[in-house]
Amino acid sequence: MVFEDSLSFAKKMDQQDTLAHMQDAFYIPKIKNRDENEIYFCGNSLGLQPKLTSQYLNDELIKWQKLGVKGHFDCEFPWMPYHEFLAEESAKLVGAKPAEVVSMNSLTANLHFMMVSFYQPTKTKFKILLEEHAFPSDHYAVESQIKFHGFEPDEAMILLKPHNGEECLKAEDILATIDKHADELALIMLPGVQYYTGQVFDMQAIADAAQHHDITVGFDLAHATGNIEMKLHDWGIDFAAWCTYKYLNSGPGSVAGCFVHEKHHDNPDLPRFAGWWGHDKDTRFKMENNFIPIQSAEGWQLSNPPILSLAAIRASLDTFKKAGGIGELRKKSKQLTAYLRFLLNNRLSDHINIITPDDELSGCQLSICINSDNKSGKQVFEAIEAAGVTCDWREPNVIRLAPVPLYNSFADCVRFVDVLEDSL
Ligand SMILES: *Cc1c(COP(=O)(O)O)cnc(C)c1O
Repeated sequence: MVFEDSLSFAKKMDQQDTLAHMQDAFYIPKIKNRDENEIYFCGNSLGLQPKLTSQYLNDELIKWQKLGVKGHFDCEFPWMPYHEFLAEESAKLVGAKPAEVVSMNSLTANLHFMMVSFYQPTKTKFKILLEEHAFPSDHYAVESQIKFHGFEPDEAMILLKPHNGEECLKAEDILATIDKHADELALIMLPGVQYYTGQVFDMQAIADAAQHHDITVGFDLAHATGNIEMKLHDWGIDFAAWCTYKYLNSGPGSVAGCFVHEKHHDNPDLPRFAGWWGHDKDTRFKMENNFIPIQSAEGWQLSNPPILSLAAIRASLDTFKKAGGIGELRKKSKQLTAYLRFLLNNRLSDHINIITPDDELSGCQLSICINSDNKSGKQVFEAIEAAGVTCDWREPNVIRLAPVPLYNSFADCVRFVDVLEDSL
């Protein structure tokens, strides 16, 4: 596709975009004191609110008003199995079977619960492979699990770092590190998409290497779910977890997602921290003391979940479905992000450096560093925010831009680059 750097070209792209109407399914924040939409490039941090959300939430409030406790059973979308109504569409987003996914807890909590089951260190095989600059919560979770098992984090954490002067890890270096430490690694835990650089990891190659060496492999999909296509089941990933407030537009702090591969569902030897919501559904209410896990990802649930949050997730999943699913969205996303990359390179290549790798190695996010003599990256960020852009700043030196195919347009990309040019 040959792009042109003009608003008229962008508007033509928007006219041809079969998903352009999806923008009307969302509330777009307005620029302060103006009746004009913001350029919202922050869906990687907090996705916008679908218009369906308040309706779905209100349905549950009304059910509670009218039915009280009976809302668990005698109605449309009863609360008792409510999480089950989310499984099919969640599974499609990550390439899983519905029985392999469940909505529960928060992301970091799920990483912990997954490590309880899937980090089984022995005296010789006790190390965990992660990135040196993993999202801090992931680092803390891994480090504390290692300590919990009585090992030394300095010894047990193998940290992947980019080459000097580079921002991204190379696939061949990750695979070489796995080979080198294969006998000592108990677990590999990496992101599907890196939060800082926007780099997409080759999950399939990493999973193949892990299986070859009999190492358990889990992924943090906070920046991957709702952004790129995945095949967790086919790739043989052991477990994964993700939040739903970023690309999944389910509201701040909404309940997280979790994937457990089917091959683990009936393994009685796996340790797990159990709760009644993970217990066999037929006998849960007999209130007896022998725990029988449900033989699906649901067996890892602890508590009855917050229904209002699940209702928001259901609204979001229905919005994805209306757009034709992640495959359709990814097609648009590739073009949209390629267009933003084209505009930035065309107009501003002397002042910015895009650290996100190209093509298949990126999702919708582009991370840029500012090289300017008169302004710091942070000052440029503050200037574009003041001019009606919402994006985010990540220490030490990156502005993250996420044109989201559900609600961003090609015209947004041109408007954004105009603002950035002025601010530089
Ligand atoms: C957003 C994000 C988190 C946030 O964790 P919560 O438990 O949802 O607060 C953790 N890890 C990664 C990689 C993230 O991108």
